[in-house]
Amino acid sequence: MDCLFCKIVSGEIPASLVRTGDRTIAFNDINPQAPTHVLIIPKKHCENVGELAVQDPQALQELFIAAEEIAALHSLAGYRSVFNTGAEAGQSVFHAHLHLIGGRALQWPPG
Ligand code: 5GP
Ligand code: ZN
Repeated sequence: MDCLFCKIVSGEIPASLVRTGDRTIAFNDINPQAPTHVLIIPKKHCENVGELAVQDPQALQELFIAAEEIAALHSLAGYRSVFNTGAEAGQSVFHAHLHLIGGRALQWPPG
């Protein structure tokens, strides 16, 4: 399978790693939308977060634990965690990932 994030997990494609866990890795987004923009992904390939919840709920839990840890490391007063599911919602990489975004004031609703 030709999956960009699986290649980051395997080390075939380099990334700026932030955290490695048992079931997840976290790395800086290549096109950051805020001072902190980290992608936290399961090591196991799943197309989206709904699929991950069924196939590896422990990895889903670890995504949120990692988000809390990284937010604390960056001393974020608050942060947004986003999962885009489907192209219409803006998903462009079909390997589940949590966007951890913070370090600036964020508007609501999103675009
Ligand atoms: P999506 O649009 O699927 O929700 O998010 C995909 C994210 O992956 C985007 O924010 C994009 O900037 C990021 N991205 C795409 N290619 C790479 C890459 O090669 N390395 C890193 N670190 N991030 C990437
Ligand atoms: Zn993958």
